[in-house]
Amino acid sequence: MSEKFSATLRIGDLNDYIAPSQGCVIKTEGVGKARIAPKAVQTDPVKISLKDCLACSGCITSAETVMLEKQSLDEFLFNLNKGKAVFVSLSPQSRASLAVHFGLSPYQMFGKLTTLFKSLGVKAIFDTSCSRDLTLVESCNEFIARYNKCNPTDEEKPKSPLLPMISSACPGWICYAEKTLGSYILPYISSVKSPQQTIGAAIKNHICQKLDLRPEEIYHVTVMPCYDKKLEASRDDFMFQSDSDGERITEVDSVLTTGEILDLIKLRSINLTDLEESPVDKLLSNVDDNGHLYGVHGSSGGYADTLFRYAAKRLYGKEIEGPLEYKTIRNADFREVTLEVDGKVVLRFALCYGFRNLRNIVTKIKSGKCEYHFLEIMACPSGCLNGGGQIKPMPGQSAKDLIHLLETEYSGSVLAADPFENPRIKRLYDEWLGQPGSEKAKRHLYTEYHPVTKSVTSQLQSW
Ligand code: SF4
Repeated sequence: MSEKFSATLRIGDLNDYIAPSQGCVIKTEGVGKARIAPKAVQTDPVKISLKDCLACSGCITSAETVMLEKQSLDEFLFNLNKGKAVFVSLSPQSRASLAVHFGLSPYQMFGKLTTLFKSLGVKAIFDTSCSRDLTLVESCNEFIARYNKCNPTDEEKPKSPLLPMISSACPGWICYAEKTLGSYILPYISSVKSPQQTIGAAIKNHICQKLDLRPEEIYHVTVMPCYDKKLEASRDDFMFQSDSDGERITEVDSVLTTGEILDLIKLRSINLTDLEESPVDKLLSNVDDNGHLYGVHGSSGGYADTLFRYAAKRLYGKEIEGPLEYKTIRNADFREVTLEVDGKVVLRFALCYGFRNLRNIVTKIKSGKCEYHFLEIMACPSGCLNGGGQIKPMPGQSAKDLIHLLETEYSGSVLAADPFENPRIKRLYDEWLGQPGSEKAKRHLYTEYHPVTKSVTSQLQSW
């Protein structure tokens, strides 16, 4: 951490949140006070709000969790059995982390968590692999539209920069782009919401109607691999107005990390090994009739993989069988895949994980030297399986070994399946959205990004 970020901070109230810089270590110093390591050089307290958070996952302590008033285990437990129908949406990365920790398969873990949550009064437990397929279908549609507009044979040239299209599912990256990079980068970012928000939109705008509930009668909680997802859920962009009384409704009311679910298991002294497995709720879950999990592979959602295959087929008639051949560019977290037609590269996609790699790529975009058509950008090295909210390695286990185990479990236990063929997704389009890219899809599944004034950053930099 750069020493220019050293500061003594005082927390004003529960809505305040310590703004981290990348990799900051924050040590609590008693109630309402915190210090950013390595040393304090400034004595005047600086007030920092939630909006100043760079959301880089470098700030993980239990203290911040409590500060995010509506985003805590206590708040979740408080809202149980209070008259609202509680829904939980579980991320596949969290499921894999818990499964590996307890020595179970991800499907067994899904069944046991269903038992656990339902015993607490939760109405249904869904799976964000399902909403990720919805995000992927819309992202494919958006990519083809951007690519076609950039085709040099088009008479009308694009007015705003359209390629490379950059994935939008990582809130760590989005906050960094909005707060540190600003307006030049934002048009490149896909307008499609992340799987966390598309499942929120589906539950509060469509599933509730099927269940004869109003959106305000639902309390929706997600379980995610990082703390940054709490920031994503609290964005104003992910609120809408209720038809009945104009109340502001949040798509996701609360986000719990994987580690907080482990805390819950410990808090209630639950012996997970002995717990029965309940049948999972299939309405928004990627589980087939034979009890197999299915979906796209890729530790962070398979965005590059899915869009590459789709674009190759739609734009160039090339059906790609088997795994894509990624070439390592700088390190294991920066890899690219290309499609050549008649000796010319027509598609160039990359996976770009970790702040070091993403800083290099945005510099290239800014200078107009980026040759990629699509970038799957994720803030965490190794992607979401390595998120800051995941369960830490066991004593004696290296972080690398844990990631390897998680990757094996995550992909090995899930049948590879095309999001366009997902029966749950087809049903959502049939019953609710119409077509990919429809007006209704744009209203519920798309969002915007906003440059944020760097109030605190500029203060810190002037020290
Ligand atoms: S890479 Fe994944 S886990 Fe890490 S901050 Fe982004 S969304 Fe969260």
